[in-house]
Formats: sequence, C-alpha cells, structure tokens
Amino acid sequence: MRLRVLGEDWTVRTEVITGTDGTRAYCDSQTREIVLDPDSSGREDLLHETIHALENCLNVCLSEDQVQALSRGLWAVCRDNQELMRDYLFGADQDTQA
Ligand SMILES: [Zn+2]
Repeated sequence: MRLRVLGEDWTVRTEVITGTDGTRAYCDSQTREIVLDPDSSGREDLLHETIHALENCLNVCLSEDQVQALSRGLWAVCRDNQELMRDYLFGADQDTQA
C-alpha cells in the first residue's frame, strides 16, 4: 500500500516481525517504509508509525512517549467522531489534497 505523507510516498507493508522487545510495527525513514506485523493492532499501529513518518518529514524529534500520546489521542478522537470526520474533515467539498 502507498501512504502519502506531506508529499512523500511511503510504502506500508506487512511482515512478521521477530524480536524480543514486543515490537509489532516500525517506521524506516531510510526506505520510507512502515512495516506492520500481522499481529499488530493495524490501524492504531499505522497511525503511530505515520506520526513517526511525520517526524521525519517535518524534521522534528518527538519522544516515544509523545508519539504514543499523540497516536492514542488522535485514534480516540477519530474513532469517537467518525461521522464528523467523514462528513466535515474528509467530506466531498473539502480539499483532500492538502
Ligand atoms: Zn513509536
């Protein structure tokens, strides 16, 4: 899958991630890839890794705790306001090419 992040093309793919630290997803800024383990939480992990991609594109540095807080917060807002997100934020009359 392709993911556009501030004009950059990133690839999102699934791969079994082995390791002992419990990592279920990662973002590789060198290859512009987001890799999700099939056992990851999917959309929530994708949002988390997308924030890491944004860090890279914007050349800012967030702590892992900050990325975690932002991804959990944004996920909850999107999940709890799906109608508003669909109709207002991503509605047909809105510019989705920002
Ligand atoms: Zn992270």
